[in-house]
Amino acid sequence: MTESPKPRDFFQASAAGAADHELRRKLESASARHLEHFTQVRDEFAPYEAERSAARAIKQDAIGRLDELLIELTRKLEAHGCKVFFAANAAEARDYIVALARSSGAHRVVKGKSMTTEEIALNPALEQAGIEVLETDLGEYIVQLRGEPPSHIITPAIHLSKEDIGDLFHVKLGIPYTAEPAELTAVARSRLRESFLRADLGITGVNFAIAETGSLIVVENEGNGRMSSTLPEVFVAVMGIEKVIPKLADLPHFLEILGRTATGQKLTTYTNFIQGPRAPGELDGPREMHVVILDNGRSAMLADPVLREALMCIRCGACLNVCPVYRHIGGHAYQSPYPGPIGSIISPNLVGSAAAHLPFASTLCGACKDVCPVKIDIPRILLHLRWKESSSPAPPQWPGAARRARAGARRFARMARHPRTMRLMGRIAALMLRPLARDGWIRRMPSPFGNWTILRDFPAPRPGRPRATENQDAKL
Ligand code: SF4
Repeated sequence: MTESPKPRDFFQASAAGAADHELRRKLESASARHLEHFTQVRDEFAPYEAERSAARAIKQDAIGRLDELLIELTRKLEAHGCKVFFAANAAEARDYIVALARSSGAHRVVKGKSMTTEEIALNPALEQAGIEVLETDLGEYIVQLRGEPPSHIITPAIHLSKEDIGDLFHVKLGIPYTAEPAELTAVARSRLRESFLRADLGITGVNFAIAETGSLIVVENEGNGRMSSTLPEVFVAVMGIEKVIPKLADLPHFLEILGRTATGQKLTTYTNFIQGPRAPGELDGPREMHVVILDNGRSAMLADPVLREALMCIRCGACLNVCPVYRHIGGHAYQSPYPGPIGSIISPNLVGSAAAHLPFASTLCGACKDVCPVKIDIPRILLHLRWKESSSPAPPQWPGAARRARAGARRFARMARHPRTMRLMGRIAALMLRPLARDGWIRRMPSPFGNWTILRDFPAPRPGRPRATENQDAKL
């Protein structure tokens, strides 16, 4: 088992990912398995499309009146005995949680799965304060043992095989090597059980926050979210401002689509309704409950009429599974807690200018839009962000690449104004490419288009009038 060194930038990291055949094999097999399960549970559920439309309409409404819903949610949470903290940015959220851990004398923290805490880099901050943090979702636990970030928002260890995990547990946990999933899971389970009982503070993310009732909904499959939120004396829920939905009656529409698109299940195993600390006379639940509601660039997204649609995301991860770029380079190459198509549209705002290049990391094939359960038009947002980035007065991160892209776009724009010239060029290109074709495909394009055929074939030009391009298989 080897831990990959951190590549320097996105180009290097994506080239390293694409060149790693073993990584691509694992990603392909996991994504294909997911899509098969998803297709099955979707097809056997006739109202799927109607639920998708209903969920989108609810999110659209919620995003349109976030301020009002957040006020209502806060009022209800406080009435249940929760302390609510609004964090303008990642530092404020981190500082609040670290100060809380210190003031409550916490030494050990257990965490349920939460991409929002990845976004605010909470673990390093807690560890720096001398507090032990343990990820309790199995995938998160595995990547934490490897000392690396998750590579998928739903399946953090998607880049690893059961043999990799067997090696890891052998080295880090000192157990005899096994690649048997049931044995590996049992080992993790027994280690994690002990930690839940010893933890002073629990932290989870939030899938939905219902304004009407002041309930936080955490969906999961392993029960670790339930234990992180109930066993420690102090519990902190961390959520982005966009997680609020208006009513309890809205929730089933999301539960019908989330399990199906995220994991190919009809419903996730646990749907936790968390409403406050334990009340007098109750035996279970935390003594204190805090809710950290994070902005961190989301208000700026809300103010952008095109980008605000990205706030409708329910973090199901399906767009990663269908994305040809993600499937070739893996999640770590993005170097953002949010990889794949959704990461490419939200990271520039949530993570900052270090992710400004991500909207360019897409082929605009549209598969993400088709699969998205709330029908987010990701390609449109990508184009919008590209336009914003290229019109920005700030110097580009890779001036050479930006210069070449601009010059190419200008040349194309000049040509595209003359349809006759375009047709003529098309015919000349077709004549030149025909000798390179074998069985309808060109396997090596000449320079400067050679990069295209490193990983895929190019359809051979057909005689006669041009027709729609068929889907083609990647060269795997
Ligand atoms: S953009 Fe859509 S498909 Fe992608 S994670 Fe969000 S909800 Fe899921």
